[in-house]
Amino acid sequence: MIRKVVIVGGGTAGWMTATYLNRAFGDSVSVTVVESPRISTIGVGEATFSTIRHFFSYIGVEEREWMPHCSASYKLGIRFENWRAPGTHFYHPFERLPVCGDFDLADWWLHLDGKVEEFDRRCLVIPGVCDAQRSPRRLDGSLLTGTMGEAPQFPYAYHFDAALLATYLTGLGTARGVHHVRDDVVEVGQDERGWISHLVTKEHGEVRGDLFVDCTGFRGMLINGVLGEEFLSFEDVLPNNRAVALRVPHDMAARGIDPYTTATAVDAGWIWTIPLFGRVGTGYVYSDQFCSPETAEATLRAFAAPGRPELQANHIRMRIGRNRRSWVRNCVAIGLSSGFVEPLESTGIFFIQHGVEQLVRSFPDENWDERVIGAYNDKVAAVMDGVKEFLVLHYRAAARDDTPYWKATKTRALPPGMDRRLELWRSMLPDATTIYPHFHGFEPYSWRIMLIGLGAQPDRPLPALAHADASAALAAMDAVPRRVERLIEELPGCHAYLDQLNG
Ligand SMILES: Cc1cc2nc3c(=O)[nH]c(=O)nc-3n(C[C@H](O)[C@H](O)[C@H](O)COP(=O)(O)OP(=O)(O)OC[C@H]3O[C@@H](n4cnc5c(N)ncnc54)[C@H](O)[C@@H]3O)c2cc1C
Repeated sequence: MIRKVVIVGGGTAGWMTATYLNRAFGDSVSVTVVESPRISTIGVGEATFSTIRHFFSYIGVEEREWMPHCSASYKLGIRFENWRAPGTHFYHPFERLPVCGDFDLADWWLHLDGKVEEFDRRCLVIPGVCDAQRSPRRLDGSLLTGTMGEAPQFPYAYHFDAALLATYLTGLGTARGVHHVRDDVVEVGQDERGWISHLVTKEHGEVRGDLFVDCTGFRGMLINGVLGEEFLSFEDVLPNNRAVALRVPHDMAARGIDPYTTATAVDAGWIWTIPLFGRVGTGYVYSDQFCSPETAEATLRAFAAPGRPELQANHIRMRIGRNRRSWVRNCVAIGLSSGFVEPLESTGIFFIQHGVEQLVRSFPDENWDERVIGAYNDKVAAVMDGVKEFLVLHYRAAARDDTPYWKATKTRALPPGMDRRLELWRSMLPDATTIYPHFHGFEPYSWRIMLIGLGAQPDRPLPALAHADASAALAAMDAVPRRVERLIEELPGCHAYLDQLNG
């Protein structure tokens, strides 16, 4: 039996993994987190994916318990600014496209209208709710209803301070029995087969375990450093390899809280704007082939914090790609040590959640079944490769090509098979059978919305629609503004709701 799990690293990955495993196995498996008091965590990672709620519900904490500890706010989607051309914007919300007959509203829109500036507002209600800065919950806590899709999607994710979340989970985990060693791992012991037998810490001696989880961030101390697993870079297709971040105080009472992340395309990359309860997190993601750290910082300051030279910038070098295998012998890498694509669709924490969910399902015994481990590695790789392809689409499909950086996005290499998919999507929008074929967290509606919003919609509508009755689709589109109006009336402002939640 595997009785003892040792996690190295106390960032978001380390503590999400610890609390999840503790909830899954209780006292039957001992969980220890060894966390360096000297090596800091990455200090960013503030926007999430809507499936994150399953993590909180699995570990059994309610929004009113954890959100106030983490400066958390709601995220209904991502607003993309300047991606088609400077001055344009559209939303990628957590909202499936409504279906009328055999086709969804994106197909109908292309047939009936086709004005790209109006697509998201004609077909979806969440963009209007975002513009009005509404909360997805009413003051009594009940959830927004009345979005358009036949299979409505849970409408939101969160923004939060990742460092505060790690602190909150540390308190929760240790109260539930997770062991916490605040020390540096200075050496790693291996047995004659090369399996990890123990860690040597600076001040707390040896820490022994059966299964070791590498949550050491971009260092990949165990998986790459000790076990020598190959890291496959994605920089040939996703060249952004640096970021600079700022934390900007925000007068929420005066300006409200936007319930969405904004990704603003700029000369050599894009800037994230993430409104938390109390401040805004912002950062410029760029490629060092096209921009220096000094220029990036100056651009970010001018954009997000003019006249605030006292705010400290955090410069980060990003390792973009994934391990060939994230589970090697008795070591599983979760978090940045496993892999990372740039934060454009907020998938870093989603990767952690996926990794630990799959680890529980694939939890080993003393047989260490290689077939199960192989399947785990395939799933983790597919999630990251799928997100990689989705992000490549963002750059390739963006109509913008006004700087050397944006020009290069049109000629860069594509992941295998993607050229054929892109070619098809010039004639018909993506569907479940033509997007990246393995689970990667994004559904076809996301690919459709991005393709249209970025300005790369198919050249013409589906011929079949010329034979179909459009009245239901027109009625559905006409109903969108009425539903938006009703939601705006019913829902409180995001700031008002969060103010109440924070007491
Ligand atoms: C620019 C940027 C923006 C991002 N934005 C988002 C976002 O919006 N949404 C999202 O979901 N994700 C985002 N991410 C990803 C997200 O930040 C990470 O997935 C998440 O924070 C997990 O990090 P981690 O715990 O793997 O690593 P880290 O935070 O780097 O933690 C590493 C831990 O390992 C410990 N450690 C290292 N070496 C040793 C040692 N020798 N001994 C003991 N301990 C050791 C450190 O002390 C630390 O506790 C972003 C990442 C970057 C780079």
